[in-house]
Amino acid sequence: MNAEHDKKVSEIAAAVREHVAEKRPVQIQKGGVSHFVPVPGDMRRKSMPIDISGLSNILEIDVKNQRCIAEPGVTFAQLAKATLEKGLIPMVVPELEGITVGGAVAGCSVESMSYRYGGFHDSCEEYEIITGEGKVLTCSPRQEPLLFEMVHGSYGTLGILTRLTFKLVPAKQFVKMEYRKFNNFPAYQAEMLRLCKTTEFDFIDGIVHSRDNFVLCLGNFVDKAPYVSNYRWLNIFYKSTAEKSEDYLTTFDYCFRYDTECHWITKSVPLLEQKPVRFAVGKFVLGSTNLIKWSKRLDSLLKLKKRPDVVCDIFIPARRFNDFWKWYEKDFDFFPLWVIPYRIPKMYGWVSKTHGARMQGDLMIDCAVYGKPNGHASVDYSKMLEDKTYELDGVKTLISRNHYTKERFWEIYNRENYDQAKLRLDPKAVFPGLFEKFHRV
Ligand SMILES: Cc1cc2nc3c(=O)[nH]c(=O)nc-3n(C[C@H](O)[C@H](O)[C@H](O)COP(=O)(O)OP(=O)(O)OC[C@H]3O[C@@H](n4cnc5c(N)ncnc54)[C@H](O)[C@@H]3O)c2cc1C
Repeated sequence: MNAEHDKKVSEIAAAVREHVAEKRPVQIQKGGVSHFVPVPGDMRRKSMPIDISGLSNILEIDVKNQRCIAEPGVTFAQLAKATLEKGLIPMVVPELEGITVGGAVAGCSVESMSYRYGGFHDSCEEYEIITGEGKVLTCSPRQEPLLFEMVHGSYGTLGILTRLTFKLVPAKQFVKMEYRKFNNFPAYQAEMLRLCKTTEFDFIDGIVHSRDNFVLCLGNFVDKAPYVSNYRWLNIFYKSTAEKSEDYLTTFDYCFRYDTECHWITKSVPLLEQKPVRFAVGKFVLGSTNLIKWSKRLDSLLKLKKRPDVVCDIFIPARRFNDFWKWYEKDFDFFPLWVIPYRIPKMYGWVSKTHGARMQGDLMIDCAVYGKPNGHASVDYSKMLEDKTYELDGVKTLISRNHYTKERFWEIYNRENYDQAKLRLDPKAVFPGLFEKFHRV
């Protein structure tokens, strides 16, 4: 029980009820930066904001039971710092400092421990939610299991997450990195899949720098480090993986190793990769929060672009990864490509039965395409990626442009479960529907 938290929640619930009475559609405004790609003419933000920015506190870190209770606006930087002080860490720490625990559940975040633990949602034990009727409800795998499942990947369309309880795991102070290099895809894939069956490494992900330059980034917690590298200012992490064969980072810096460049967004402004420029202005422009704020300020410039760059995570079943690669290197051809093996402990309730059966097996490969220019006169690479993902029995996140027809969308997503959850949580449709939020209808 936390009186301050309860007071904030009842105030937000009252605000939702007011909008219901006035029949006004609402959207969640969580504060901080959002990791949604701005789309010109975006319909996703055109309703009344419900301000939940005050829900940003860690409520409890239970060291004995390795469990944390937090409000949804807690960022992973805030969380990792607090838990690491107690020798613990969340099972999944998405790589950008400003991603929040609520956003990670609603938007399907994964990372380099996902080959063991799944997505962040898979480490969660309980959610408190404000429904579209302004009621407060608690759900868990035992209490309201369907609602618990469906809040994951609901992208703010079912209710407002207001408190999350999730598991933590022991962590050490440093991470030792080993970079295994390959010059061909079959050897790279074979080694990645082999390692995912072992417990040799605490962290596994990879970067494909080019068609013949593949790196497996393998990390282990260690108590001591002979040195620690710093990628917070002058040096660039993703490049170091091609140059070095081993490295040491503090665990906090490992968690946010991609944050300084927001993966490789800085690559699109080549000056930002130069040391003198980084020395002069790095403190003001580098870091995912800065970079996202700047790119949103330049939103209007998007209108000069035919289409926004392709930024999307797609989950491809491991058995189709080879097919994906053959297509990607030939027809898509954008590097670096970030790859994160991701084990789904049990098929999610939001995936339709038929698509879930096609996904088969539990290991997915998250292929993160961050920043492919998309101005070709006759090819829309965003649509092409979406179509290929479907053809290869995969799923994409909905964080950027979406092209599905309604029929295709509900072939992939579980309409029956979604409608049931919507009826329970948001019968008056105060929040948009899942398809409607992401498509111009
Ligand atoms: C450039 C870029 C880089 C990325 N890098 C990574 C990465 O390294 N690792 C990774 O795992 N993921 C990454 N992602 C994806 C990211 O994890 C998801 O987009 C995630 O949903 C972002 O969460 P957020 O806290 O920023 O929330 P937002 O982006 O603000 O919101 C995400 C969705 O969650 C909903 N939502 C937010 N809060 C709540 C709440 N309290 N209750 C209900 N719904 C809510 C919103 O309505 C929205 O639909 C990246 C995305 C982008 C665009």
